[in-house]
Amino acid sequence: MDTKKNIIQKNKSWAIILVAQFLLFYIMSKSDFAVNFFSQLFDWKKKWHIPLFSEISFSAGDVIYIITAALICYLILMSIKCRTAKYIKHLLIIGNIFYFTYQCFWGMLYFQAPLITKMKNKNISESDLKKLTIKYLNICKAERELLNEDKNGVFKVYDAEKIKNEILKQQKLLPKKICSKNPIQNLSIKPSLFNSFMNKTGILGYYNPFTSEAQYNPNIPSTQLPFTIAHEMSHQLGYAREQEASFIGFLCAKRSNSLELNYSADLYALKSLLRAVSVNDNVFRNRILSSFSDKMKKDREYEMKFIKANEGILSDFFGVTNDLFLKSNQQEGSVTYSYFVNLLVMYEI
Ligand SMILES: [Zn+2]
Repeated sequence: MDTKKNIIQKNKSWAIILVAQFLLFYIMSKSDFAVNFFSQLFDWKKKWHIPLFSEISFSAGDVIYIITAALICYLILMSIKCRTAKYIKHLLIIGNIFYFTYQCFWGMLYFQAPLITKMKNKNISESDLKKLTIKYLNICKAERELLNEDKNGVFKVYDAEKIKNEILKQQKLLPKKICSKNPIQNLSIKPSLFNSFMNKTGILGYYNPFTSEAQYNPNIPSTQLPFTIAHEMSHQLGYAREQEASFIGFLCAKRSNSLELNYSADLYALKSLLRAVSVNDNVFRNRILSSFSDKMKKDREYEMKFIKANEGILSDFFGVTNDLFLKSNQQEGSVTYSYFVNLLVMYEI
């Protein structure tokens, strides 16, 4: 057992390194040169980082998270029980390694120039939003007529692998003036090992910066599945901001011939537009919702049923923490959902 003074003395240097890292990355986030460097680093490292884990059939990143969480719990318990400096030192070393890797491989990408700066700046009017909402309603209605259903008449994706390959192909064809990132060569998108836990959290998917793997919850409704996969794979290209990943995923779907991918992405666009117009005109939103085709209404009912069945403390908690996480990463939490709408409208009009 060490004295309190001893514990502080023995761990001082690791604690100082951690604080120095916070400061250093904060300062670098303000420098265009440094942000550009990390953006280039990401483009270079994805050439080997993605293939490194792509052949593993399950999510290696999830296994790393489980082992690390178990190790951290063990070290915390031991440091409380034995009161020796070495357990705290190990905790600080893990903290330093994780923070450094996270910032180099991902965190700094949040400070890249926003995608919207590459597009023509236009003022978005209420009538633009409404016109686009009606356009996407009609697109979704037409697409939905041609899609596979389950025995309850709800849209069903039967082959997720085909969709993943289609997105990989479409990423290579993205317009260069919007997406200047190197395309990825290997598929590394996997069902999350935490999928039943994810049902309860409302999280559809996530990107692991340590393994470059993209994870998704395979249990989510089929209306959300193809677009979630496209969104997570956009993170692998190097788009950290949520709304930008959604927009790049949307562009991949836009040019694809896969109706399942089209419908999922166009429905996401429609829902985002409805959320945007509902701020000032709830009557219009309700009118559009009641104009959904019967098939679309069935899909919507199924989505609502899925959310309702998994509602609880966890989904509330993750809603809040996701909000805080986005805010701490230069995004504006749920409010920025309109950033996707901004990108969409600028692209469309
Ligand atoms: Zn995301």
